[in-house]
Amino acid sequence: MEHVDVCVIGGGLSGLASAVCLAGAGKTVMLVEQSERLGGRASSDVYEGCFVNRGPHALCQKWIGMKVLGQLGIVPKGGTLALGGTLTEREHEYELPMTPLSLLKTNVFTWKQKKEFLSLLFRLTRQDLEKGAALDVIVKRLPNPDISFALDLEQPLYFSNHSAAAVFTNHPDYQVIHTFKYHRASEIPDSDQDRELLEAFLDRLQPGWQNEVLKKRYLPAMTVSHSLVTPERAAMLSKESPAIKEIPGLYAVGDWFAREGLLADAALASAYEAVQDILKMEGK
Ligand SMILES: Cc1cc2nc3c(=O)[nH]c(=O)nc-3n(C[C@H](O)[C@H](O)[C@H](O)COP(=O)(O)OP(=O)(O)OC[C@H]3O[C@@H](n4cnc5c(N)ncnc54)[C@H](O)[C@@H]3O)c2cc1C
Repeated sequence: MEHVDVCVIGGGLSGLASAVCLAGAGKTVMLVEQSERLGGRASSDVYEGCFVNRGPHALCQKWIGMKVLGQLGIVPKGGTLALGGTLTEREHEYELPMTPLSLLKTNVFTWKQKKEFLSLLFRLTRQDLEKGAALDVIVKRLPNPDISFALDLEQPLYFSNHSAAAVFTNHPDYQVIHTFKYHRASEIPDSDQDRELLEAFLDRLQPGWQNEVLKKRYLPAMTVSHSLVTPERAAMLSKESPAIKEIPGLYAVGDWFAREGLLADAALASAYEAVQDILKMEGK
């Protein structure tokens, strides 16, 4: 086997970013990926001439991931989703309060419910977003283009029309839409039931969507994050380094090991930190 300076195991965002950064700094790098393709959870598939992510994906423009991509010369194309959306509860639809002010002003909730809604959002960000079922759909046209983003009040259901912000195809009418059901930590998921829930959610938001389907893909068990960075975990990680103390030369990267950012941001941030560490050590 030829000599390599660094071996990167895993060709997801964090592995790819590490490999590209290190190669750019003049290192010879071997990247080992277990599956037949690169990209990990951030990879997309092409159907009917449309790029389709595995479940709904968005990148926060102001977080560190964007800076790391910039350093790699990658400028993601796409727009910003308009702040706003719909809350559903059985047959009712309400405007989604997206800012603290609109939450205070909305008539959807009583004061007690506003407090509960804030606490729900807090809990969602802390623990309920790690796994779920994704129904990704390409439609010839969207029956109800006014709704681009929706959440359900009773079930942990999510809907978004990503074509409202990004270009997935050259076709002027085709839309790539995503629905997702988050699994609670204690839940034993029922794949068929989740699919029925997601389809019924789409029936409510986009009546007649089934007549417009070009491609429907159901992924019942997606891992969104191997570990969300809670404040406690962030405090613990702030004392750690991506370098594994016990094994000199070994580094851990990925969205499960990051002191900064969440999800893709965390994956990219941890890769960047490990690479800086490696290059600093080499410079010694
Ligand atoms: C449905 C869904 C929605 C998401 N939405 C968002 C979002 O809106 N915004 C956001 O920022 N992030 C989002 N994410 C998360 C984001 O996709 C991940 O945080 C990011 O892609 C993780 O990258 P990673 O490199 O850490 O891990 P992975 O993508 O999991 O990559 C790990 C790679 O390592 C390979 N591998 C594992 N073990 C081995 C081995 N032993 N040998 C060789 N190869 C191995 C795997 O095959 C894989 O390719 C979402 C994820 C999902 C699933």
